[in-house]
Amino acid sequence: MAIAKPKTPEPFSDQLVRFTFDDLPIRGQWVRLEAVLTEANAHHDYPQPIKTLLAEQLAAVALFADTLKMNGSVALQSRGGERLVRSLAECREQANLRAIAHLREQNEDQATDLDAGESDLKNWLAGGQLALTLIPELHGPQTYQGIIELLHPGLEANIEHYFQQSEQLPTRLFFAHNRATTTGLLLQRLPDDDLGHDIATQTWEDAWETIQVLIATLTLEELAELPPEQFLRRFFSEFPCRLYPTRSLRYQCTCTRAKTDNTLRTFAQEELNEIIAERGAIEVNCEFCGARYTYDPVDVAALEQDRTTGQNTVH
Ligand SMILES: [Zn+2]
Repeated sequence: MAIAKPKTPEPFSDQLVRFTFDDLPIRGQWVRLEAVLTEANAHHDYPQPIKTLLAEQLAAVALFADTLKMNGSVALQSRGGERLVRSLAECREQANLRAIAHLREQNEDQATDLDAGESDLKNWLAGGQLALTLIPELHGPQTYQGIIELLHPGLEANIEHYFQQSEQLPTRLFFAHNRATTTGLLLQRLPDDDLGHDIATQTWEDAWETIQVLIATLTLEELAELPPEQFLRRFFSEFPCRLYPTRSLRYQCTCTRAKTDNTLRTFAQEELNEIIAERGAIEVNCEFCGARYTYDPVDVAALEQDRTTGQNTVH
């Protein structure tokens, strides 16, 4: 098997590897997240099923972002569920990830139910919607949004169905979790004319079928534990495969003091002054990263001054 060996140290955490099969219009991405997940959970006490869902959403957006020839952002977002009000993972510039989840307020008795380990996505998102959003350039005008129907219990099957139905892209997606990491694998059969190969369509179809048969023997333990090169060698040994240089991923928020200034300026100055009078300062906490922005009376007065001199530029 001809593998171009990437110069990447073990253990491949927070890294993404793209691979292609020689002469076949099939592409793949492999990702393993660890520190990104630690950061995503650092400021929240999510029940385990929500930690798992967010980990899968983060892995998914990292995988999708790598399939696109763009530097914008990819977001996978649920909204309006009865129990899970919102969950969002986004990947910017194919490397910078962040995530958040909002659960409906629960009393303590119900909280016990939430921790019971339910993994059925449809239960959590009952009444809600799951959407995939692509913004080709940050602040760019063109936004694409696809709605992912919730027909299956797990995120993988729903996404596979979405790509098949909406994009006509046969897709296989797997997530595997161990104690600290989530590993994701995405395989997509590209349109016949996409790579300019002159091999008969039937040959490609046969190869896609064979690859699916091979991947069906995969255990999630193997996906969670094996380094990417070893993983590909084990499962696809009969298909020459090329690995591309690894991409490092990180948890990175977009919040800034300037953006928080602008948010506060959307409130009436009297409201801000009332909070200052009551509490002495205004504290704004970023839910994504835990950053805390504090405004004392002088800061709030400066906001008012900027407001009157028109310095509230949008960031
Ligand atoms: Zn932040």
